[in-house]
Amino acid sequence: MKITHVEQFAPKNRTRLIRIGTDAGIDGWAESTLEGKPKSVPAVIDEYAQYLIGKDPLRIEHHWQQIYRSAFFRGGAHNMSALAAVDAALWDIAGKHYGVPSYKLMGGAVRDRIRVYAHWGIRDLSDEGLEASRKRLDMLQKKGYTAYKAGPAGPWRAHEPPSRIDQFVEAAYKMREWVGPDVELCFDFHAKMTPALAIEVCNEIKGMRPMFVEEPVPQENTDALKLVSDHVPFPIATGERLLTRWEFREVIEKQCVALLQPDVAHCGGPSELKKIANYAEVYYQHIMPHCAIGPLALGACMLVDAVVPNFLIQEQVDAGLGNGLLKKDWEVIDGHIPLWETPGLGVEVDEAEATKEFTGESYGYHAELGGETYHENDGSVADW
Ligand SMILES: [Mg+2]
Repeated sequence: MKITHVEQFAPKNRTRLIRIGTDAGIDGWAESTLEGKPKSVPAVIDEYAQYLIGKDPLRIEHHWQQIYRSAFFRGGAHNMSALAAVDAALWDIAGKHYGVPSYKLMGGAVRDRIRVYAHWGIRDLSDEGLEASRKRLDMLQKKGYTAYKAGPAGPWRAHEPPSRIDQFVEAAYKMREWVGPDVELCFDFHAKMTPALAIEVCNEIKGMRPMFVEEPVPQENTDALKLVSDHVPFPIATGERLLTRWEFREVIEKQCVALLQPDVAHCGGPSELKKIANYAEVYYQHIMPHCAIGPLALGACMLVDAVVPNFLIQEQVDAGLGNGLLKKDWEVIDGHIPLWETPGLGVEVDEAEATKEFTGESYGYHAELGGETYHENDGSVADW
């Protein structure tokens, strides 16, 4: 079997997909979306396609090594997202070629279903805000979720007055009151805080027993992350912006966090996600893969979630369950997604929808992520 073509599609405003075709008539699909950067990853994939055409698609690790190592410049979000999509599509082809779910080729499943959390929280404490939050919670509770994630909205300065912190803390305690002690609650700080502010806020919410706080500070300085972890009495998580084992190395070895969130679509694909998980297992850290894009990326995450012992919970967003791209959406039952039995990555792509070209207005500079971000009081740049 040989790779004959690599096609790319842009069916939604930000969604980018690839289809790797073979002379055996087997196609592998994957998502190549990089949030906020819709144009650059397809250009990288075009370059990789020149290498891939004519090659045996079943030599997945060999191709990963070739693409990562032999092109001189390594890593970076664009290269790694492109490589991640190629890797996931090859795992899809391998599963279809051998007629088994791809997780059976990665050591076999160590669990029967994948626990997922949903995004829900209270941000607005007004009557209307609370009513909207209650409505969404009622809807999600019908699917049996046992964990929810929220985040403090808007930019945060190096320090904030008590009223700003108190509003977030009050909402956090109200969330606990609403869901009770059997449900887990987590908060994504989106790396917007300084270590000092993050520690202060975390200590204010420790009484409502969070499952974790995610990205309390940016990812570049592992010592700053460890400072937060060392001063907070519950798990800290990070990893959606870290790529490859080499970027995770210090976070794992210094034990800067308890929980790792590699994104399968950016960290280098399912092959690399599994290696990061195996590395973390040595330090009793668990993975909770980041997934804020679509249903093909979710399938690639669950390929690894199925086969590693140190998996805790999977992220997904509403659009990630189908987004009009699948013949049958992923289904959350009792807070879990059951493992699939079909060959490949568990998704049957609706090719008519997936190959449509998006014709609406394209996103401008960072528009997908809300555009330029500034502090209101002085116009200085704020972290997203
Ligand atoms: Mg996050």
